Amino acid sequence: MSLCWFRTDLRIADNHALHHASQRGQVIAVYIATPGVWRTHDDAPIKVDFWRRNLQALSASLGELNIPLLLLEADDWSQCPQVLLDCASRLSADALYFNDEYGLHEQARDADVCAAWHAQQRHCHRFTDQLLFTPGSLKTQAGSMFKVYSQFRRRAYESLHRRVPERLPAPSKQASPLVDSDAIPDSFSGYPAAPAAQQAFWPAGELAAQERLALFTDELLEDYEQYRDRPDLDGTSRLSAYLTAGVLSPRQCLHAALQLNGGEFDSGNPGAVSWINELLWREFYKHILVCYPRVSRHQAFRPDTEAVAWRHDPEGLRAWQQGETGIPIVDAAMQQLLHTGWMHNRLRMISAMFLSKNLLIDWREGERWFMQHLIDGDLAANNGGWQWSASTGTDSAPYFRVFNPVSQSQKCDPDGSFIRSWLPALANLSAREIHVPPTTDLLNKLDYPAPIVDLKSSRQRAIEAFRGLGEKP
Ligand code: FAD
Repeated sequence: MSLCWFRTDLRIADNHALHHASQRGQVIAVYIATPGVWRTHDDAPIKVDFWRRNLQALSASLGELNIPLLLLEADDWSQCPQVLLDCASRLSADALYFNDEYGLHEQARDADVCAAWHAQQRHCHRFTDQLLFTPGSLKTQAGSMFKVYSQFRRRAYESLHRRVPERLPAPSKQASPLVDSDAIPDSFSGYPAAPAAQQAFWPAGELAAQERLALFTDELLEDYEQYRDRPDLDGTSRLSAYLTAGVLSPRQCLHAALQLNGGEFDSGNPGAVSWINELLWREFYKHILVCYPRVSRHQAFRPDTEAVAWRHDPEGLRAWQQGETGIPIVDAAMQQLLHTGWMHNRLRMISAMFLSKNLLIDWREGERWFMQHLIDGDLAANNGGWQWSASTGTDSAPYFRVFNPVSQSQKCDPDGSFIRSWLPALANLSAREIHVPPTTDLLNKLDYPAPIVDLKSSRQRAIEAFRGLGEKP
């Protein structure tokens, strides 16, 4: 009998560990709740609640297959080996199946678990499931890891031309459940259930994820290239929360796009190609996380940028966090994050550049705030996105190319409807007025803050702070 340990792979379809465990024989599923670790990892309450709701859905789907789901608890990941071994002894399980996770702590935890199991002559089976390609498997000709996304993508395309990773079926029904499933609670300790409106915005379960994927590929994917940078439109998939929790697999996404695009991934419909490229960015950053562990320790990918003299500005940081900077597109973006747990990609770049360049505040402050609030918070993608924006990362934005939030706003929200929907104080401004920080005259009439920074001089200040480091224009 085997235990299948679920983590960020909360689905039954195309789940490598579950599939292989069930091929071997009877399976019992386990999940270890670790609120203490969630707190130290800054996991957002909305994300923990999403995990919890997806566990409820998972438990129901597993129940239909007669696979019980047990809910275990550990204060700390160091207790995982013993918690799992105790469970195995109780149930006479001699093998453990799980899918790999890629943070440094996750890798250390899993190595400890495998060592403890092997010491007791029990088997551990681990799988690549969260990604299309095992980290480290795509290499440069010199045998090193890629640092440039376009080169990584080329190698990924070559690999896909040879073989597209297949999806695995859900396991078949087991004879009868060996034990009863544990009830999944209505909240985890210290993590109250999210408000009903947020839960409705992010319905849980594989079915909800598949419906969203189908809606996206049927109605939006063809135009993705055209509308992906428009937060005022519903132009992207909003599947990141499902991918991060593993309610959906990257293979399911890839195959859905391939189906629309006649099996092509690097040619054909520009929407499909461009979306697959985003899935490859997701891969790229996870590979970077594994191959350059310093980013897992919150160090800059480019060590020379550790010398940047970041400003200590608690009031500026607070204004940015609360969406009160006086720069409309930044404030609207931050409101979207606070209210929905999600932010459009273009806005993540604009708000991250504003914090790290115009305010010259350490990108790690922003990275932490995003992690504490995102439903899709993922160490690799979040770190990659922040280091890209702050020009400290691999293949990141050159430091002298600082986004102007006003012109970005004019491009990505042309008639200002996105800003209006999040900043009621600006609702009556015209499409021409709404993007720029309001003039003193206007400010007297509006319940909206004056800009906390001058965009032009702060841009210059950022360029000066970076000038003379490793990279030259
Ligand atoms: P779509 O445009 O539909 O893309 C499909 C999928 O591709 C996404 O769901 C996501 O899994 C992946 N993807 C898309 N863009 C990227 C990217 N640039 N990097 C990595 N993967 C990508 N993404 C996260 O999943 N978690 C994070 O914590 C996260 N933090 C970010 C922080 C910053 C500062 C920036 C600039 C980007 C961050 N991203 C993060 C990447 C991106 O913003 C989100 O993946 C995207 O906005 C999710 O919306 P979507 O599902 O509609 O994406």
